Amino acid sequence: MRKKIIAGNWKMNKNFEEGLALASEVVNMVKDEYQGGAHVVLIPPFTHIAAISKLISDTQNVSSGAQNCSNHASGAYTGEISTEMLKSIGATYVIIGHSERRQYFGEHNDWLAQKVNAVLGSGLNPIYCCGETLEERESNSHFSILETQIKDGLFHLDDNQMKQVVIAYEPVWAIGTGKTASTAQAQEVHAFIRGLISAKYGNELAAQITIQYGGSVKAENAAELFAAPDIDGALVGGAALQSRSFVDIIKAMP
Ligand code: PEP
Repeated sequence: MRKKIIAGNWKMNKNFEEGLALASEVVNMVKDEYQGGAHVVLIPPFTHIAAISKLISDTQNVSSGAQNCSNHASGAYTGEISTEMLKSIGATYVIIGHSERRQYFGEHNDWLAQKVNAVLGSGLNPIYCCGETLEERESNSHFSILETQIKDGLFHLDDNQMKQVVIAYEPVWAIGTGKTASTAQAQEVHAFIRGLISAKYGNELAAQITIQYGGSVKAENAAELFAAPDIDGALVGGAALQSRSFVDIIKAMP
């Protein structure tokens, strides 16, 4: 059975106090209300990770993560945060290549491949994001765009490294727009991605890779998405900023 993962990407939201309150509400609600098998990952801004990691430290199936990291191990890179720093404050997952990083900060596949290496080198798990723009979907080039993102960012990894990777399919046109990909559209892409992995690494390894969907996931559409055979959870933005809406999404995963 593949690991099912529901991750909440808070982006640049919540001050420290608000962030701790949200994390503690989520943890308490998960303990009280959730008997399912999903793993929950809280991904706050860097400044909150240490305190949140401490807060969740004795809660099973809840981890913390970071939204980005440096591709360098250490040195004169003002403003950057290394994977060893993240590890030392308890983060276990790192989002790599979110579409906002690709779009606003010029992160490209080669650079992202280096970040994936840094994350794996510190024994952490990358959540590697891929996804097409609306223009790319409408011109029917989404499969080739996704193939390039996956191959350039990940296919230099060996089998053991690849097994540590989580993939998030996030169509850019569905992020923060309220437009969700239909379950059929998402499943089609997830099966395509798993097929790429299978062609390179074999069926057995491909069957173990968690592929999350992201893009306006809410409690109302989560259960249908999670019922699709290749959708193994969600990377949630807006709806992760409130405990009730986030926990209701978690509860949609059996
Ligand atoms: C995201 O930022 O990864 C995301 C999926 O955002 P939203 O859920 O708000 O569309």
